[in-house]
Amino acid sequence: MPLISRQRIRNLLEREKTAFESAHPTSRKLAAESAPHFIAGVQMPWLVEWESPFTLFVDKAKGAQITDVDGNDYVDLCLGDTGAMFGHSPDVLVAAVRDAVDQGLTYMLPTEDGARIAAEFAKRTGLPRWSFTLTATDANRFAARIARAITGRPKILVFDGCYHGTHDETLARLDDGRVNPREGSVGPPVPLEQTTRVVEFNDLAALDEALSHGDVACVLAEPALTNCGMVLPDDDFHAGMREITRKHGVLLIIDETHTISSGPGGYTQAYGLEPDMFVLGKPIGGGIPAAVYGVSEDIANRFDALLDPEHPVVVGIGGTLSGNALSLRAVRTMLENVITEENFQYMFSIAERLEEGIRATIEKHNIPWHVSRMGARVEYGHTVKPRRTAREVEDTTDGELEQLLHLYCLNRGVMITPFHNMMLTSPSTTAEHVDLHNRIFADCVEELTNVAA
Ligand code: PMP
Repeated sequence: MPLISRQRIRNLLEREKTAFESAHPTSRKLAAESAPHFIAGVQMPWLVEWESPFTLFVDKAKGAQITDVDGNDYVDLCLGDTGAMFGHSPDVLVAAVRDAVDQGLTYMLPTEDGARIAAEFAKRTGLPRWSFTLTATDANRFAARIARAITGRPKILVFDGCYHGTHDETLARLDDGRVNPREGSVGPPVPLEQTTRVVEFNDLAALDEALSHGDVACVLAEPALTNCGMVLPDDDFHAGMREITRKHGVLLIIDETHTISSGPGGYTQAYGLEPDMFVLGKPIGGGIPAAVYGVSEDIANRFDALLDPEHPVVVGIGGTLSGNALSLRAVRTMLENVITEENFQYMFSIAERLEEGIRATIEKHNIPWHVSRMGARVEYGHTVKPRRTAREVEDTTDGELEQLLHLYCLNRGVMITPFHNMMLTSPSTTAEHVDLHNRIFADCVEELTNVAA
């Protein structure tokens, strides 16, 4: 196997940073001018981690393409880290939203769209009862609250390396058996071990042990970890997790916010999972803020039983703008026209092409990397085999190499998702788009492994 030298990575990275800086004078100016006005110096706080020397500012986006304020065009394989995974501003959504904005945007009362959405999700997931929020974070928070309310237990369990939004109890890590706040977590309200148990993904024995204490209300899990790199479930993981959670009377919340890449009803529908609750946010409104959470009939009945029929009060789940008319019109339009089986079949075929191109380069150069795919979501990693836990991902992640690959692609007109090597295909992504990525990826690997250069 060829050795990729540290010096070579650094030299290429310096070259790419210089190229980025000279191609983005307007972004550089806007970044410098706006920094004094923003908390942490950037428009969204997590941009402090972005790979480029300064933040790229966007002018516009449509379909699978995005244009920055310097007029550079990119094939967008990041797609707003899933928020726009069905393409930027699909025409049908634009028309529906234009129509809806004229009819009042939020009333604190239901619209017919909400009923249609709930019925459609019931069909796709098998869970009959639904509610709305504006973010996946809130949907996860509310699902966990309901789980605590009906089980009377205080804690939740998450997997090491998970991300479920800025939901306090989930921002936890497992460090040598101890539960700690995640690195960079700003101001956790209480020590995390008071609220949260954490085990490694794919470790069913640890899950069984952690739930045996009887203090966990729910397991909150993605079908695969997608935020620390992609960690796929072992073949028996989901069946085992379901059996163990049932054995301990613990509710299972499946967060499909990223794994919706598996199909119109997410991984749950594609692989026949049987969650007690289902959460989905980000792309369902096509970029208009919207999220849903659904529960089984049993959970819904147990929740109803907590309400006093004479004086029903529900506080702690909700939100004034949750389920607003605009948001629901967007979700309904997306479900009926865009988040469809037909579009998914197309997205899968393009994602397969992306995956095959990456694999061909890995094999050609015999480099110790792998590529994984979950429907329309593709990710490569710098180990021979896919990793089974977040800790393994962390121990094998090469930050400089990752930054180089991102900048190398960006400088040649392709944007991949920051923080890991993740790519999405949308109904607007074409074979030419992914072929461009695959050529650029091949060129980068060629430069990295060319010992004669
Ligand atoms: N769940 C998962 C699996 C996510 O990846 C994210 C965000 N990356 C969230 C929830 C939170 O989404 P939001 O920030 O839109 O609330």
